[in-house]
Amino acid sequence: MRRIICSFAFRFCISSVPNQSHIPLYSESRDGKSAGYVSVILRDSRRQKTIFVLGSLALRSGVLPWDMSSSVAPNQHPNRLIAALPLGMQHAFVSKMELVLLRKQQIIYEQGEPITHIYFPCSAVISLMMMMENGSGVEVATIGNDGFLGVPRYFGEGFAFARGIVQIPGESRRMRSDLFVQELEGNENLRERLRRYAGAQLAQLARTAGCNRLHAAEQRCARWLLMVHDRTDAKEFPLTKEMLADMLGVSRTSASLVLQSLEQQAMVRVTRGKITILDRGRLRSAACECYQIGKETVDRLLS
Ligand SMILES: [Zn+2]
Repeated sequence: MRRIICSFAFRFCISSVPNQSHIPLYSESRDGKSAGYVSVILRDSRRQKTIFVLGSLALRSGVLPWDMSSSVAPNQHPNRLIAALPLGMQHAFVSKMELVLLRKQQIIYEQGEPITHIYFPCSAVISLMMMMENGSGVEVATIGNDGFLGVPRYFGEGFAFARGIVQIPGESRRMRSDLFVQELEGNENLRERLRRYAGAQLAQLARTAGCNRLHAAEQRCARWLLMVHDRTDAKEFPLTKEMLADMLGVSRTSASLVLQSLEQQAMVRVTRGKITILDRGRLRSAACECYQIGKETVDRLLS
């Protein structure tokens, strides 16, 4: 255990963290196979520049329980679906899940493959990509801390209708599919909560089908950036023109032109492998109507 800890390169994700806040810190081994988690509280960090580690460090192949520190309120769970559950139900539900760290471009499951686990992203963002036989594809849904991956299982279907691929790396809860089905069968309240999100995802799929056909790549790119910002609360995240081209279903040249245009209008800054949102207001103006309609739908169904 000690050797593992020493070999860890900690990646602190503490930008924009207010004082007196609980935050998760992640660590990942150099081989990318193991991961750890520390719960901390920042206490008046601007003055004292001190981080107090309250939680204990647990290492187990990226899997560990949520309640590492009793001072972290369960109803502040980063996944909004889980956070919306009544407290007692939330504890019981989370206790049957693992915490995993998802890597950038990790394929959760392929189109047509069995859905082995249901994922409830916390800080990760996952794309559902509709893939064609020639290898081309386009994003049809974006799933972050507002939802869960594996909606077909909710409807009794055991196979994925689209590829699930991680766009923004981060943390997620996951539950085995068979356990998930058992939970649904025995819990009407949970079933109702998840039904609302399943409805929201169907609405997103329909909206995206129209958006992909009728709206310009630049509008769709602005929409996607805003959706990721909503789900991560991060202004900077990894993005390459290859990733963007795949998501928008356009050529790399077109993706590059879109990024150039947004950058020239001072909405974003693009650096090597990263994009930073500079002006969210202007980005909203550049996005198609699908962003606002989609956001209102999710907020209504999750309220
Ligand atoms: Zn649109």
